[in-house]
Amino acid sequence: MKKSNCLLLTALLLVSFSRAQQSLQKLYPVNYSQVSVTDPFWKGRMQTVATSTISTCVLYTENKTGRIRNFEKAAKGTGKHEGIYYDDSDVYKAIEAIAYSLKNHPDPQLEKNTDSWIDKIAAAQLPDGYLNTFYVLTDISKRWSDMEKHEDYCAGHLIEAGIAYYNTTGKDRLLNTAIRFADHIDSTFRKSNRNWVSGHQEIELALMRLFHHTQQRKYLELAQWFLEQRGHGYGKGVIWDQWKDPEYCQDKVPLKQQTEITGHAVRAMYMYTGAADVAAVTNDDGYVKAMHTIWKDVVYRNMYITGGIGAQGKNEGFGVDYDLPNESAYCETCASVGMVFWNQRMHMLTGDGKFIDVLERSLYNAALDGLSLSGDRFFYGNPLASKGTDQRREWFGTACCPSNIARLIASLGNYIYSYDDNSVWVNLFIGSEITIPMQKQSMGLSLQTGHPWKGETTISITTAPKKQTQLKIRMPGWLKEPAPGNLYRYTNSSTAKFEVTVNGKPSAYREENGYAVIARVWKKGDLIAINTPMQVRTINSRAELKQNDKRIALQFGPMVYCIEGPDNNDKAWNFIVPEQPQFTVNYEPQLLNGVNTITFNANVMEAGNNGKTITSTLKSLKAIPYYSWNNRGAHEMQVWLPTVVKEVKINP
Ligand SMILES: [Zn+2]
Repeated sequence: MKKSNCLLLTALLLVSFSRAQQSLQKLYPVNYSQVSVTDPFWKGRMQTVATSTISTCVLYTENKTGRIRNFEKAAKGTGKHEGIYYDDSDVYKAIEAIAYSLKNHPDPQLEKNTDSWIDKIAAAQLPDGYLNTFYVLTDISKRWSDMEKHEDYCAGHLIEAGIAYYNTTGKDRLLNTAIRFADHIDSTFRKSNRNWVSGHQEIELALMRLFHHTQQRKYLELAQWFLEQRGHGYGKGVIWDQWKDPEYCQDKVPLKQQTEITGHAVRAMYMYTGAADVAAVTNDDGYVKAMHTIWKDVVYRNMYITGGIGAQGKNEGFGVDYDLPNESAYCETCASVGMVFWNQRMHMLTGDGKFIDVLERSLYNAALDGLSLSGDRFFYGNPLASKGTDQRREWFGTACCPSNIARLIASLGNYIYSYDDNSVWVNLFIGSEITIPMQKQSMGLSLQTGHPWKGETTISITTAPKKQTQLKIRMPGWLKEPAPGNLYRYTNSSTAKFEVTVNGKPSAYREENGYAVIARVWKKGDLIAINTPMQVRTINSRAELKQNDKRIALQFGPMVYCIEGPDNNDKAWNFIVPEQPQFTVNYEPQLLNGVNTITFNANVMEAGNNGKTITSTLKSLKAIPYYSWNNRGAHEMQVWLPTVVKEVKINP
């Protein structure tokens, strides 16, 4: 080779190397364990998860179902498998939730019990690393023969649990078990060139967590390998047969060519979360471009006002655009948890506040609705209207949702802040304290807020780096519009204006990607006051969304509201709301653990005493936050309130 050619080649290699090194990811995540949540609203929810929700998960995992017994039997190699083939995953997800919760709520008895579960899990692992109680107890010769059977899905949850438990306790038995299983999968598939389309995505994002934890590239490569398996017909004759639809399993075209959201909602959310994780490391623009397009399809055409997704029960997923029925809305709790994951990753890739706007909507409404105030009852589907027959339940045959909402709330600190070398992003207004590493210095913040009931927030600087640092404070999208895109619009006007002062003086800021950016050399004791005024906003939907025709929804701050029977003479289907009602907002500390209620006058229809006439009288109605409904028994409820006579239910 000529010397000049050699130099050129070296230069090209250097360019491609530096491109590969220059990650797409602009921001660093903040781990929940770095954040102390002090927020009155969320601290209560986290406490409830630590006590009530986790106890319920333990009770059902260990005593009321055979999930732990399956591991005991598998370790002995004999016995009848109890439950469904994916039940191992619920054990792992419960351990993950326990791990997050133990960090803030130490509980030696719970930890000891979890250690005993882990011993049983490890004992059930086969010498080659395989671990799945269903196949061990039915027919091990059939393992890895059916892509739909969730073996790799269970492995993904094992990996997440192993990392979480190690991070909290320092105990590595579960993590090592997970690593042996991951290595078994790597040699069975990627290294053997054996095609496999995961029936339920999850392993991709889990392998990315394992990659970051171990810094071993093979896990990144395996995650990427799983993503790249899709869209080549490898699932044909296997998972396609079971669902008669490659779109159900996001397997119609390769991920980078996908432009629409299709199929099972939870599987889709987990897959795109994993793809964002891979793209953040590999700089793969193909994934990112595809996901921006798909994200718009989700948010602009297929998302409920609650941030819930997956309208249909028949495929636990997406239907046609703009078809969002309210009473039969599926909106699986796990799909909303997945929306939080995916939108966080999209925010990490872009620094764009619109992803946090959607995350916040899903978190405060559709996801939070999945858990009762008592913490021991769960919604699997989260409808936006009810005739009084829906009720949260203690558990489910397919019990994915309880431990999923538990792990989300227990790790809430993951979502409040993010940062890079020169900036701190304040994403969610949740009272908390944190110290963020900034190169060799650090920045400490103490955030106090009235959210979600009042718009005032203060941030005091507790530690300041000795250099100019940008504080990027999210300007909630709901100040201007209900959600990105124009699926929903506000119909009343507002004078609400985002305001920020520093040490009592109005502060100039630069608006960037939905954040107010203030750059200065901060000092300890600096006080930033933020006002995100909350007013009752009325919302309507695009005409294509027929189910919401001539109906309005109410929102206050991040919260979507509903009318529920107990506050309204036990009825929620017997009124017509004026187009522009006058609203009164009251904080009611005794109601539903303390909520803002919205009262207004509406025409209420009632049957006359003789049962032969109907009267319509202007009466006061009271709306409550959507997440808090169904905590006083099963009652009627509606989110989308009719402004003309629609379906009416009048009981004398
Ligand atoms: Zn679920």
